[in-house]
Amino acid sequence: MSRVRVRFAPSPTGPLNVGGLRTALYDYLFAKKHGGDFILRIEDTDANREVPGTEDYILKALKWAGIEPDEGPGIGGNYGPYRQSDRKDLYLKYAEELIANGDAYYAFDSSDELTKLRESGIADGIPSVKYNFKTRMSMSNSLSLSEDEVLKLRERGQNVTIRLKMPENEVIGFSDEVRGDVSFNTNELDDKIIMKADGMPTYHLANIVDDHLMEISHVIRGEEWLSSTAHHLFMYRSLGWTPPKFAHLSLILKPVGKGKLSKRDSAAFGFPVFPLDWHDSDGNLQFPGFKENGYMPEALINFLAFLGWNPGTDQEIFSKEELIKEFSLTQLVKSGARFDIDKCKWFNQQYIMQSSDDNIMSLIKPSILQDYPDATDSFILSFIDLMKERVVTLSDFIPQGYFFFEEPKKYEEKMIRKKYKSENRDYFLKILDLFGNLEYPNAERTQEIIKSYVEENELGFGNILPILRIGITGTMKGPDLFGTMALLGKEVCKTRMNKALDHFDKVYEAKLNDA
Ligand code: GLU
Repeated sequence: MSRVRVRFAPSPTGPLNVGGLRTALYDYLFAKKHGGDFILRIEDTDANREVPGTEDYILKALKWAGIEPDEGPGIGGNYGPYRQSDRKDLYLKYAEELIANGDAYYAFDSSDELTKLRESGIADGIPSVKYNFKTRMSMSNSLSLSEDEVLKLRERGQNVTIRLKMPENEVIGFSDEVRGDVSFNTNELDDKIIMKADGMPTYHLANIVDDHLMEISHVIRGEEWLSSTAHHLFMYRSLGWTPPKFAHLSLILKPVGKGKLSKRDSAAFGFPVFPLDWHDSDGNLQFPGFKENGYMPEALINFLAFLGWNPGTDQEIFSKEELIKEFSLTQLVKSGARFDIDKCKWFNQQYIMQSSDDNIMSLIKPSILQDYPDATDSFILSFIDLMKERVVTLSDFIPQGYFFFEEPKKYEEKMIRKKYKSENRDYFLKILDLFGNLEYPNAERTQEIIKSYVEENELGFGNILPILRIGITGTMKGPDLFGTMALLGKEVCKTRMNKALDHFDKVYEAKLNDA
């Protein structure tokens, strides 16, 4: 096999969503598995649809996800430029070659005429009439008009486009790496525009010219491009080029209900569908990102790999290297894959648990320091160690563990009302004293002295530990109590518990009064 070269070819029409990221991932995995190149090409032939900031977003998102291109805009490579607008002058000659081969023609129709054609069948129940072998001779083009007229219209330079002349009743077939044999009858296909009136090629022409010139071996892309492949193969044939191999990926579906996952689902279901935050032109957050919502890139990648691919074993956690090793186009699934955010959360949780404390520290320290500038590295590391088994996302660390950095904001009253008696107050003070006497308080020793004190005095763990926990942290939901105490230290625990006991006594008094 010649060198494997796979391109990811987004159009800069808005931020890259998880569907696009999955395509890029599969492109990358396949290229790397075969020791080949992963290329980023920006398909910006349609200036009207361009959304500023997209290219930068795509580069940043790929970088964050760890699937960085070997070649691309701003990266370099031997097949550049990698932005189609920078390759503008290259395409016309191939369109002319297609005309010379009798497989394309000039067309001069105005947009009104095109609308008229499209709508001409409505009365007969045909919602959209195609520009094709049946209708082309009634339109304004170099097949229907005389040579003189064509010359005149070309000179006038208005609405001059080039269209493919799709043959009548021919079958164009290919073997898709995912779907197997696929074929289209050309009667279903229209005479697509390949050069626009503004002198820019359309996606179809630019795409195949660049795939050819960039020596792309495999085109792995979304299934919405399946029927275009017939047009593309028609051009490859006419130009005498060997087409790349094609693999069309199934859709990513909404978590529930019908249809493709869309950006509107982010608000509807309350989870991100974009890798990074996307801001509108005023700088307001328009769509939230996985990164900013506390997802680890490795987890998102692992999750996305499974949205449409299956290793055929029970293994679920795959490092990028393992994915590269195991990935194959034959194990891609043909049906759509449901976007299950709970599964994504599960992956994230696994990756957080597996991750080193130092790695998590590098990810969350900046935001911790924003709120708690005095937090030391060693304190943050121990905090991470205690919390990382409990959180689902990196964004959970602070909301779920803020009490490591400041006093509890409130106490879980229900438990206090149920369990606390002022008669027990001294036991808690004694426990704090014992803890205060420990020379080197760590989780183990703290547990030892508290447990034996509770046992010796037959106080019952259920009466003591919840109150101690709530006094120090405010909540029943926290990591190991003894580790928490050891990290907070003697002074903090004592101060907090004294303050809490004053409050608990009031709760108790109120309870007695209520009775
Ligand atoms: N520019 C197309 C897109 O935005 C690329 C399709 C392809 O990969 O051929 O999806």
